[in-house]
Amino acid sequence: DNTINKIAAGEVVERPSSIVKELIENSIDADSTSITIEIKEGGKSYIRVTDNGNGINPEDIQLAFLRHSTSKISNPEDLSRVLSLGFRGEALASISAVSMVELITKTEDNNIGKSVEIHGGVLKEELDVGAPKGTTIIVKNIFYNTPVRRKFLKSEGAESANIGDIINKLAMCNPNISFKYIKDGKNIIKTPGNGDIKSTIYSIYGKEYTKSLIKVSYVNDKFRIWGYISEPSLTRGNRSNELFFINKRYVSSLILSKAVEDAYSSLITINRFPIVFLYIDIDPEDVDVNVHPSKIEVRFENEMIVVDKIKSMIKKRLLGENL
Ligand code: ADP
Ligand code: MG
Repeated sequence: DNTINKIAAGEVVERPSSIVKELIENSIDADSTSITIEIKEGGKSYIRVTDNGNGINPEDIQLAFLRHSTSKISNPEDLSRVLSLGFRGEALASISAVSMVELITKTEDNNIGKSVEIHGGVLKEELDVGAPKGTTIIVKNIFYNTPVRRKFLKSEGAESANIGDIINKLAMCNPNISFKYIKDGKNIIKTPGNGDIKSTIYSIYGKEYTKSLIKVSYVNDKFRIWGYISEPSLTRGNRSNELFFINKRYVSSLILSKAVEDAYSSLITINRFPIVFLYIDIDPEDVDVNVHPSKIEVRFENEMIVVDKIKSMIKKRLLGENL
């Protein structure tokens, strides 16, 4: 099957944070407006993602756990313009092969929900249950059946930090979705889900960031750049708060980071980094999302023009010019 051949089979379950990412992306693809993520012990013993999205039809549940089964692509041409986040159809299959998964789901059209339990890829239980519309997936005891891989998991703190980072980024590119993150019983963040970037930043990064933000924007007929940058007085010791989103997807790009840093270079102390939340909207046909299986490093048309525009836009704003 050509569709399958065109899809690079990447390893999706490396660590708890990669599971959290796949589950949240599935919730986003299912048109959820509210997503709750709960983890325990860095996600090693427990990950729960609950959404209020479309749910899965009872007859499609088992299919969803099969490798290369995706409801999101039906022919090879679709691949070049996939807008949904997941399209390889292997996340649930891979996750359920190495952990104990419980899924509870209900669609609008069904009166009753379904619950299934799958341990190490084997269906253990299937029940009718009362449930609200949406899907809950609980992933317990990652790598319980592959002890060597379990040993290679990082410390609880390191795994939690990674999970927090992924949730922040997904929340920042989906301001219309309310994200709630609970870690070891404690509420960590709750974003408003009202579409507003500034209040989303406030709910994740706090008051200090929000106070020092400067709005930026640039538009031409090929692309649009917009978002917030920090006053030069508020900096970080690393690049972790230089965030770029292309077509609502987080991307890591040294080229874009350098462009931003270049614009700040005369105003910021050496070895310090600005805080930026920059969104680039561009024709999806011009973006190559498949450069890397983790879908983070991207290439796009007009990269150098975008870089130039970012530099001049930021320089102007830092000099106090109006939008
Ligand atoms: P992919 O996202 O690449 O299609 P996955 O293995 O992540 O593959 O998911 C398989 C299928 O299960 C999806 O195509 C979708 O139909 C269904 N699914 C998974 N999670 C959810 C969810 N939270 N809500 C609705 N459907 C879901
Ligand atoms: Mg998926």
